[in-house]
Amino acid sequence: MSLLDSATGNFWVDNGLAVLCTDYGLQEPPQDVNAVVQQIMQKLYVKTGNTGEYWDEKSGQLKTYEKYNWKEPVRLFVSIVPKTPKKEIDGKSYYTSPPPRPNPPIAPQGKRQKCDFCGREEVVLDAKLYFFPFVVNPNDFGNFYSCARRGLKMCALCALAGFAAFESWLWRRQGSTYHFFLFHTDLERLVALRQGIIELMQLQGDAKGGNFEAPFFGEYPFENLFGLLLRLFEVIRQRDSEGELDPLLAELTGAQPITSSPIVVYAISGSAGGKSFSMKALHQFDRFQPLYRLYCRWLETLQTDNSHETLKTVFRQFLHRRNRSEETLWREQICRAILQQADPLPPLEAFLYEVSASQKKPLTFGTLEVFQIYLQEVMHMDEKLLNILKGFGYELGKQAAGKKDMGLLYALRNSKNLDQFLEVLNRVQFTLGITVNPELLRVESGERIAGAPWNRAKTLLAIYAMNANLREVQPQKNEASNE
Ligand SMILES: [Zn+2]
Repeated sequence: MSLLDSATGNFWVDNGLAVLCTDYGLQEPPQDVNAVVQQIMQKLYVKTGNTGEYWDEKSGQLKTYEKYNWKEPVRLFVSIVPKTPKKEIDGKSYYTSPPPRPNPPIAPQGKRQKCDFCGREEVVLDAKLYFFPFVVNPNDFGNFYSCARRGLKMCALCALAGFAAFESWLWRRQGSTYHFFLFHTDLERLVALRQGIIELMQLQGDAKGGNFEAPFFGEYPFENLFGLLLRLFEVIRQRDSEGELDPLLAELTGAQPITSSPIVVYAISGSAGGKSFSMKALHQFDRFQPLYRLYCRWLETLQTDNSHETLKTVFRQFLHRRNRSEETLWREQICRAILQQADPLPPLEAFLYEVSASQKKPLTFGTLEVFQIYLQEVMHMDEKLLNILKGFGYELGKQAAGKKDMGLLYALRNSKNLDQFLEVLNRVQFTLGITVNPELLRVESGERIAGAPWNRAKTLLAIYAMNANLREVQPQKNEASNE
């Protein structure tokens, strides 16, 4: 049996099988699984950089040894510490030898049973956290853990793969919150994904706070998932332009249609209370093609020396620094809307009026272009209407700044229904002497304006107006800001 034929359908174990193929060169299940466990240990159980002292019986003196520990964040799931004899010397307790490396044994026993992961009849063992870490809160994620109540049984190969899978994830930490990302599809493509993409994304060495380079990160799940996807697309686009993208992965870019087992990324977030992990959210994402298309459109439209960097800056800005903490709720809501192909304008508007306005700081270069592309491509908003709102909003914000009349902008933002919105437009004509484009007053059935829901037109107008206003207030500081 080849390893590639051993897929289980479980995202954790399958990722481990892929690691056994790519990182350990295994083509088939090893004769001695525990020898491979020891090889994996070299990567997971690492020097901490600290030293300790032990009592050397032979020489009768204290000696130093280098300390080891499970590397972050593996230590949230694995807490095996080998027992080492101790001795009391001058009132202090010392090990009598350097602590040995722990040994998570794979020791199946008893009669053959069905493995809960691969379904094969094998001699099994109880699934431990260090072979299968995401077995927490089974009530919340019943579809993954339907057998969890009676305890899961694993065959030796699935247990080995489960242990190897700790090397497959991409992760970030923000404070005590951890975000884990694991891809899943059929095993052949999972191997291609690992070799062609994931290994390029994983940082080598002692990574602090995460093992991939995230354009931004925060406390919430969707902003981190979106950040991961931006980094993923950066790598894919580069590989694709060099002709190095594995044809097996062409469905990610849309060059190939999606096959029967589409590529999915699981995003798991949770907090580390003490030494263990408590899962708070599990999301899955598989709409790579439309989002990648949008990503490419963004880069083409931005047309800067480094459009990817500009794009990163756009999403990085949606936070508010207060004292020493960073609140990123607006970015979370914006990213969530984009990932779910929903309307990101309300949180963008909230950010402008609640954060940007108080800091007198307009949106960064490229922001409005990025959202305009999104509205056209995803929300199918009419380009003509967009341009009318943009021109009118710009004029409105500029005039309001000149007359120091911010009340109108807030009245616009706070319009609760179509009548209030039209009333504000009326006041704009009267107070600021700007003629309102008749297109905006042409209300269609279903309270739509030029084909769009009235409140979307309102929100977009409020965004353009406030941004133009902020640019007027501090023009010298923000030369790089856009229209
Ligand atoms: Zn199995």
